[in-house]
Order: sequence, then structure tokens, then C-alpha cells
Amino acid sequence: MGSAQQAWHEAMFVGGAFERPADGGTIDVRDKASGEIFATAGLAMEADVDRAVVLARTAQPGWAERTYAERAALLRGVAAALSDRAKDIRELIMRETGCIGGKADYEIGAAVSELTEAAALASRATGEVLPTGHAGRFSLSERLPVGVVGVITPWNFPLVLGMRVIAPAIALGNVVVLKPSPETPVSGGLAIAELFEAAGAPAGVFQVLPGDVAVGERLVSHPDVGMIHFTGSTAVGRQIAATAGGLLKKVSLELGGNNALLVLDDADVEQATMIGAWSAYHYQGQTCITAGRHIVQRGAADAYVAGLAARATAITMGNTVTEEVGLGPMINSRQIERAQAMLAEAVAEGAKIVTGGEVDGPYFRPTVVTGVSRESRLWNEEIFAPIAPVLVVDTDDEAVEVANETAYGLVDSVISGNVQRGLDVARRLRAGMVHLNDATPQDEALAPFGGIGQSGLGGRSGGDSNIEEFTERRWLTINPLPAHYPY
Ligand code: NAD
Repeated sequence: MGSAQQAWHEAMFVGGAFERPADGGTIDVRDKASGEIFATAGLAMEADVDRAVVLARTAQPGWAERTYAERAALLRGVAAALSDRAKDIRELIMRETGCIGGKADYEIGAAVSELTEAAALASRATGEVLPTGHAGRFSLSERLPVGVVGVITPWNFPLVLGMRVIAPAIALGNVVVLKPSPETPVSGGLAIAELFEAAGAPAGVFQVLPGDVAVGERLVSHPDVGMIHFTGSTAVGRQIAATAGGLLKKVSLELGGNNALLVLDDADVEQATMIGAWSAYHYQGQTCITAGRHIVQRGAADAYVAGLAARATAITMGNTVTEEVGLGPMINSRQIERAQAMLAEAVAEGAKIVTGGEVDGPYFRPTVVTGVSRESRLWNEEIFAPIAPVLVVDTDDEAVEVANETAYGLVDSVISGNVQRGLDVARRLRAGMVHLNDATPQDEALAPFGGIGQSGLGGRSGGDSNIEEFTERRWLTINPLPAHYPY
């Protein structure tokens, strides 16, 4: 991919055009397997945020006044452009995130779904005619866009995590300023800008500022940004919530997780290990919906550990662009070192590595660990690496108690041969999403995706939840004649 030919080379996307940031800074975009710099994005600064927000504010009323059919047509146009460019974007995602082709295909397919569902949403933000105690009065509730929506995204699913916010926000008459992660400024930002440009988006409706923390902070604190939608770590989400709280700004946070996979002793263990391996190792365990805690009842435990270890050992690793492999490189050395430190601490506290644990360059071997202490960091924190700690429990009550022993609450799964028993356990789990007899990584454009506790704040992504997310209600009354008062 010759980056010099790209419109977005060393650029940001502001006011409908690719241009260099005011300070001329750049971000080197690395292929995560080879370490090669294969593209260069612009590095925006606070002044660029200020300019983009002025352009966004100027564009927003006109965009909101467009008919729903016009707004829907833009999103369908972006979906068509994405489908046309799927091959190039697939490779970009693979190189920027270090994922296999299947995960890149998933992102593209899911992003197209988000766009087509958002197109349908444009005509569904209906209001209500309310009962009223005032004779002759019309009492209405109408939906208005929030205005300028600041969107901040992480690196792990850069295309779809951006699109699932951008598409519904724009469908509902808002305009968006996106700050993607500096790890993925292209598939998470500039490539999306190219799609909006190709679809003929009016200037200022969608803008991209590749940047670092400073750009994110300015977007959050900018008085003319009406809402922040943040997807990322709980630590950063907490800081953003604090700033937004001080400004009384609407904020929606999709944060981390420490998700549990519960395997009951009546489960088909062979199937459970397949679900367990996918939940733990899918995209190197670098998703918010990875299962980082495997809670297995004693009757199934030995077979589960042996089966999971066999699957982990069989997974191939390598450069996903040049080889047919199951797992690619980790996103960066910081993530590898953090996971290694957590694993070493757990071992020092008495845990046993059944398989894996080795690191070879950017590759982390899929790992199974037993005998993990419930007090260890490995058990209590989001790992974000392909490590599956397994803890053995006896009763259903104990499984639920251990699963709920976390400040997070994103997603849990229960595997059971008995749907009634599995459902009884599933309903007692404290999480925003629960799956029975399936893996923890699940997302659909129409489903309410999101967590409770330290996994999220605000509403849900997906389906009609997006109407709540990206509109405000206004109470509007109409009296046919001017009202009378005592004085
Ligand atoms: P991160 O929190 O480090 O960064 C996310 C984004 O926030 C990046 O664009 C980053 O540049 C920006 N940022 C960092 N500090 C900021 C600040 N002070 N103000 C404003 N913006 C700031 O997360 P990451 O490492 O990119 O992604 C991994 C994390 O994201 C994991 O914790 C994962 O669980 C979470 N995640 C959650 C979901 C979800 O839907 N719940 C989905 C994917 C990832």
C-alpha cells in the first residue's frame, strides 16, 4: 500500500477535506506483525479540535433539517463505498490491528450492518402525543439531535466500534468529530473519512482527528461538543466521566470487562472447550468481551482443562497477512509485558501454567492456567492477552458468587446441558449481557450492547437504544388560544 498516494497521507479530515494538522505532526502507522511503518497519518492538536468543532457546529443545523430519506441515503452510500473497498480495508485492518482475515471480514460485515440499520433509524426517531390535564392543549414529546457528538475509540475493533456510534448519531441529525486510537488512525478513522467523502457527506458532518490524549481531552472539555461517546478502558473512562461530570456534559461510556465463562458439570465438555477457546483466544484475547475467567464445576474440570489446553496448543500463530494462522501479533510490547507480569505474579502465588505462557517477538502463545488465587491480579483485572485462568467450583451458587465477584459487569456465558438450570444460573449473573451455551464475544447491530458497574455508563449501543443515546426529548405544548392566568 503506497501511503504517499493516499489522500489521507499525513492528514486529518476536517471540513470535508483531507489536510495536514496545524502543527504538521504525524503518526507512524505500523504493521503489527513486521513492525514496518506502512502508512503515516496526521497528528492533530487542540487547535485542530477547536477548528473542527466550529465547522461541526456550523454544519449541524442544516444536517438535522435534511429529510430522513436524505440522511438515510448518506448512510447507505457509506455502506456501498465500504462494500466496494472491502478488500483494501480488510488488509488495512489486518495490518493495523494484527488480526486474522476472519476478524477483519467480521468488522466490515458488522460495519455495513450498523450503517444499514442506522439508515433505517433515521425515520424511526418518532415523538409522542401525550395525555394532558389542560383542555384543548396539545402536549407533545419530540426528539431532537444532541448536536455535535465527540467519539473516542480504541484500537481493537477500530472500524466497527467507530461505525456503531458514528452511523446512528449521524442518522439522527447529529454531526460527529471522531478521535481514533493512535494505534489505528487509518482503519479507525481516515479510511472511514474516505467512505463518507465518497458518499458525498456535506462538509463538517463527519470529521476525523487522529491524535493522542491531548486531542481526546480537548474534545471532552470543548463547550460546543454536546456529548461524548467513549469506548475504551475503564481507567480512561473514569477520567472522561469526571471531566464531563464537571461540565454537566452528556457522556456514554463503553468500558472494559473481566468476563466469566461458567461451565456447569452437565455440559458437553468437548463443546464447552471449543466455546472456551474462542472466548479466551479470539483476536489474541484483546477484546472487551473476552472470557478472562473460566469458572468450571468440579465434575467437568479435569476434562475442561485438558480439552482447552489441547485446543490452545494446536492454535497456529504468525503474520496474518502472509500466512494462514489462527492468531496474529499482540498490539504492542506494553500489552505483552503487562500480561507477562500478571502471569508471573499468579505463578509466584501458586498458579500452574498448563500450556502456553511463552512469548516470541510480538506473539503470545495461548495459555491455560490453573490454581489461580481469587485475590490475584490475573483473576481480578482485565488481562487483554490470550490467557485463560481456570478456577474450580462445586455448586451452582458458588459459580454465581465467584462470577459476580467483580467490579465489572460486561458479559458472561453459561454452558450447561440443561437449559432450565443454565437459565437459572444465567439470570443471577450481574452483567449487561449474558449468553447461554455460546461464547462471550457476541455483538449484533440490533442488540443492546453494553455493561453495568465499571464496564459502562450511559445507555446501550444497538437498535432502538441508539435513539435514546443520540437524541434529547423536548416537551412541546401548543394552545390553540393564548392561556388565561389569574394575574
Ligand atoms: P484506552 O482507554 O487506552 O484508549 C481509548 C481511546 O481513548 C484512545 O483513542 C485513546 O487515545 C483515548 N484516550 C486516552 N486517554 C484519554 C483521555 N484522558 N481523554 C480522552 N481520550 C483519551 O483503551 P485502548 O487500549 O485503546 O482499548 C482497550 C480498552 O478498551 C480495553 O479496556 C477494552 O476492554 C476497552 N473496550 C471496550 C469496549 C466496549 O464496548 N465496552 C469495546 C472495545 C474495547
